[in-house]
Amino acid sequence: MRRRDFLLASACVAAVGLLPVAARAAGRLGVVASFSILADMTRQVGGDAVLVEALVGPDGDVHVYEPRPRDLRTLTAAGLLVRNGLGLEGWMDRLTGAADFKGRVVVAAAGVMPRTMKEDGGTVATDPHAWQDPRNGVLYVRAIAGGLAAADPANAAAYQAAADRYAGRIAEADAWIEATLAAVPVAQRRIITTHDAFGYYGARYGVEFLSAEGINTEFEPSAKAIAVLVSQIKRENVRAVFIENMTSPRMAQMLARETGAVLGGTVYSDALSPVGGPAATYLEMLRHNTTLFAAAMRVG
Ligand SMILES: [Zn+2]
Repeated sequence: MRRRDFLLASACVAAVGLLPVAARAAGRLGVVASFSILADMTRQVGGDAVLVEALVGPDGDVHVYEPRPRDLRTLTAAGLLVRNGLGLEGWMDRLTGAADFKGRVVVAAAGVMPRTMKEDGGTVATDPHAWQDPRNGVLYVRAIAGGLAAADPANAAAYQAAADRYAGRIAEADAWIEATLAAVPVAQRRIITTHDAFGYYGARYGVEFLSAEGINTEFEPSAKAIAVLVSQIKRENVRAVFIENMTSPRMAQMLARETGAVLGGTVYSDALSPVGGPAATYLEMLRHNTTLFAAAMRVG
């Protein structure tokens, strides 16, 4: 590491570690969210009364995250932790234990009806990507508002009002997605992604998603699994393969090359884009993904 980089890294560590302290000093509630989508939801509900930090930021992969020492300091000083649950953050218990975290915890997906699926070998796994169905997004928002109100009762009414407004905008996005995809013939509603992140979305809107990897990004698919998928893509005449922002584009590029399917662009599955990108908020993510999916399936 060059000296300049080292100094920069040190400065970042100090600044990030101090954020929740600064929040308390300013009379705001310090909140840690496990990943960028939950951080955005919490900011929408909490407004100026909260200071939110995501452990796994934009374009990051929450499945395989390795907590860093600065996360310990951040978490120790926070009043509230917002996590997804459903097995998404396998690293979280280790982190909260090491940080001796005594604040409140919101499990955003606690009210969701989980989607389960059979993995290779027949074991049943829970799909953690519940946020991709906006109706679940509303449940997340309700859970987050309840957690904020419990941690900061003085602002409970404001959190509730903001959650009501935000839930209304999510419901509008849900209706828009439904109408947009209704224009796609049912036989053409097939999409390929790198990992199986859109099961809830597919179930909500009647789109079939095929993927090279399972519901986790931890393991590379076997050559045999890829060969099976390639022949399925050809047989079912699936036209579009999508890159996901938080995984390597290699798999999608290879599938497109092998099958003649077109690359439909980059969609946002488990992380938002940085500010200024096409999916910097949860609502922008839903609309961006749908716009790309619909365009690719109409051509198909
Ligand atoms: Zn995922």
